[in-house]
Amino acid sequence: MKTWLSQLYRELIPSLCLLCDETLPGGGLACARHRFPDLDPQLARCPRCARRLPAGFLSGLECVECLKAMPAFERVHCAADYQSSPQQGMVREWLLAFKHGGRRELAEFFAQRLHERVTLPEPGCEPPLLVPVPLHRWRHLARGYDQAYLLARALGEVRGWDCARLLKRVRATRPQGSALALSREANVRAAFELRRSLGRSLQAMLEGRSVWLVDDVLTSGATADECARCLLRAGAARVEVVVVARA
Ligand SMILES: [Zn+2]
Ligand SMILES: [Zn+2]
Repeated sequence: MKTWLSQLYRELIPSLCLLCDETLPGGGLACARHRFPDLDPQLARCPRCARRLPAGFLSGLECVECLKAMPAFERVHCAADYQSSPQQGMVREWLLAFKHGGRRELAEFFAQRLHERVTLPEPGCEPPLLVPVPLHRWRHLARGYDQAYLLARALGEVRGWDCARLLKRVRATRPQGSALALSREANVRAAFELRRSLGRSLQAMLEGRSVWLVDDVLTSGATADECARCLLRAGAARVEVVVVARA
């Protein structure tokens, strides 16, 4: 009965693109213009930070940036490349709608993409704890929601993993490109700390635990590195990063 009803529903009400409301006669989630990009499995990537490597680079070796200053996280999982070709689809518009367009429900769409594309921990391994990269209180107030937290929570629901807001931002980082912008690294240094209000329970939650840090985009990796150091100092066994897109 339920199947019959949903069949009828699909025939009567055409699907709409999640991003632009264009009707999709063939069903699906997005129109051709807004196709969510496929991650190119052929591209060589740094095994640690997932940066795309030039052709001919020995696979399995970390990139030059990682070798210069080894990040505290072990690995980056991503669902898409930020700079993908128009043929592959565009991730930028999806993220803009999510971050600045008030489309908080897109967290579930991204969580589903991550679920499909991201490598699971080895069988038998304890599932990781999902921790969102925190947003500064003022930005949270201005936007009305914290996109990394929504994403972490949605991914936790899809995977059945725990999610906890363990970090807080102690000062706002200056927007890059502004006249007052510091170097990216100086800008995020000491910008994060653990939420002390959690006290002993925080220690218990992190002790020997594998943590996946969640954010929408990874650019230089400096923010994720700073958050990872914070979590490791507090007792986490290892930190990996999971983002919708790698810039
Ligand atoms: Zn569309
Ligand atoms: Zn790297």
